[in-house]
Amino acid sequence: MLLTTLRRGKALQLTLAIVKPDAVAHPLILEALHQKILENNFIVIRSRELVWKRQESERFYAEHAGRFFYQRLVEYMSSGPMQAYILARDDAISRWRELMGPTKVFRARYTSPSSMRALYGLTDTRNTTHGSDSVESAHREIAFFFPEFNVREWMERSEPFFRTGH
Ligand code: UDP
Repeated sequence: MLLTTLRRGKALQLTLAIVKPDAVAHPLILEALHQKILENNFIVIRSRELVWKRQESERFYAEHAGRFFYQRLVEYMSSGPMQAYILARDDAISRWRELMGPTKVFRARYTSPSSMRALYGLTDTRNTTHGSDSVESAHREIAFFFPEFNVREWMERSEPFFRTGH
């Protein structure tokens, strides 16, 4: 059933998605986000719940060090359990980011009212979800959360299986 919903012949792309602590704390919101994942034909390749130490949060968001929201962000991201996923489908990176909506919740509500951030985001920091923004960052972020997962090996071994629908 799932495989028939994939567009045959299109290569799968991987992305790293996070459901942030504000959403994991609310089981119904987490369930609604899982529904979005399924409805939009993503395949969940890996999933894990984790709690970051502050240093891990700082390392992941190092590119934002010095920005006005950095301290608030790293504190929030290490404040409770979150859920990380490796998701696959064609154009996974841009499709997931489209579903997330813009970074800032007020903008999301205005421009993309049905996006995850518009529906469930609380503030610009507590904005429900994360998604990689390029192939390079997807690979880097997958390695950060799932160090045992080998993207190249998965692409060689498993991706053709999904693509051809065997
Ligand atoms: N962020 C914030 N205030 C801002 C901009 C960003 O708190 O004004 C937080 C927010 O949680 C966001 C994260 O920093 O998701 C990373 O920011 P980025 O610009 O990479 O946005 P994203 O790719 O998550 O949309």
